Amino acid sequence: MDARLPKHILIVGGGTVGMTAALRLQKKLRAGEARITVVDPLPHMTYLPFLPEVSAGSIDPRHIVVPLRTVLRKCTVITGRVTRVAHDERKAWITTPGGEIEPVSYDILIVTAGSVARTLPVPGLAEQGIMFKTVTEATYLRDHVLSRLDAASATDDPDLRKRLLTFVVIGGGYAGIEALAELQDLARYASRYYRNITAADMNWLLIEATGRIMPEVSPKMGVYTIERLTERGIKVYLNTFAESMVDGNVQLSDGSTFGADTIVWTAGVKANPMLMHTDLPLDQRGRLRCSETLQVVGVSGAFGAGDVAAVPDLSRIDEDPTATCSPSAQHAVRQAKVLADNVIALLRGKKMRQYKHAYAGSVASLGLYRGVADVYGVKVKGLPAWFMHRGYHVLKMPTFASKARIIADWTLALFFRREIVALDQIDHPKAIADSVRALESARIAS
Ligand SMILES: Cc1cc2nc3c(=O)[nH]c(=O)nc-3n(C[C@H](O)[C@H](O)[C@H](O)COP(=O)(O)OP(=O)(O)OC[C@H]3O[C@@H](n4cnc5c(N)ncnc54)[C@H](O)[C@@H]3O)c2cc1C
Repeated sequence: MDARLPKHILIVGGGTVGMTAALRLQKKLRAGEARITVVDPLPHMTYLPFLPEVSAGSIDPRHIVVPLRTVLRKCTVITGRVTRVAHDERKAWITTPGGEIEPVSYDILIVTAGSVARTLPVPGLAEQGIMFKTVTEATYLRDHVLSRLDAASATDDPDLRKRLLTFVVIGGGYAGIEALAELQDLARYASRYYRNITAADMNWLLIEATGRIMPEVSPKMGVYTIERLTERGIKVYLNTFAESMVDGNVQLSDGSTFGADTIVWTAGVKANPMLMHTDLPLDQRGRLRCSETLQVVGVSGAFGAGDVAAVPDLSRIDEDPTATCSPSAQHAVRQAKVLADNVIALLRGKKMRQYKHAYAGSVASLGLYRGVADVYGVKVKGLPAWFMHRGYHVLKMPTFASKARIIADWTLALFFRREIVALDQIDHPKAIADSVRALESARIAS
């Protein structure tokens, strides 16, 4: 590195870690010390723990995202995807939305490209499975579930109706459980406005491959959560795999089969496969190998954190020397701060600090006014847990404006009925004009 010139810091990913680290760097760096470029295919950071509330319609989708350009005023934000990194040459290549490939040189690399849904070779999964990792998927699911009610109420075919009213979630981590609970809550509420659909007409199923759900909370709280879900008519299958879902015909490992028009896949995450197009060291699970100081192991001038990285978990090192931090917002935000401080330490030739945080536990919503929490060993259920979930996550929203917007959404919901309109026409803006044109041309032809 040329000591005289401002260094160029390239941040790959403007999500939880990328945006938090960039905010800290732009605040703490001295003028002329370094310039920062943040590259992300999305123009915003998404606060993922609020996706279930988006799918329930409790929060407007735009309110859980933070526009990178408005908060990272001292950074250059590029909307694009880093598709290759040659760290040896200190060079990365960005594919822009227009399809051009732009090379960019840097001095310090920060890799925070997060994770993607972990899929399995289940026949039909690619065509039928809806992932639950983005604000687009959460918004789509809300509209999709409501539009299934519309379609079911308009048909007299009992088989089709059953299929339309069968909703399956595969994967019993917090993302799957919260998505399931929130969507069922919404659909049950909406059913009161249909003359020919009741809550009992819907089939909600949770399929989990292991013997328990929500590994983030204690086994006892997992059992409590299953009991609450079962009370609400949700069928929970443990130790069960989905073997096939071709054309929506679901086949489970216990031999049962059924048709479903909604299949949500939340069976875990894996590190972003963009790592495979870099010359950086990866562990056996495809994660970026990082040290306690969040530096990439074995190279200089590269850092990584969050879901994309395998960071040693120093709080568990005594019981398991190979333990790494779990993929969670809790670690992501804290790692981002240490990472930014260590980048500054590198620039100033100072000592870096190690990342150490003992996982505090989890809070989860099980639909309106119901929740489960297990924080520092303290177990909370029902309404208090639901308040904890909302309170904790709204405080974690990175800007005052996003906090205020979400609280406004919740406050308005206290005074009005739930919004139950499916706006799935948004995906097909020309559909109505096309059908009018088709009617007109049919009339002319006859
Ligand atoms: C539904 C759901 C609920 C959750 N609930 C909780 C919870 O209650 N508590 C908790 O602690 N954690 C929760 N998590 C997990 C938590 O949100 C993640 O662990 C955390 O967001 C990880 O942060 P990250 O910065 O590593 O990844 P992300 O926040 O996902 O950011 C990654 C960024 O990289 C960008 N990117 C991807 N590819 C490229 C590329 N090639 N080039 C450039 N940029 C790229 C992405 O667009 C994204 O903006 C939840 C996750 C989900 C999906």
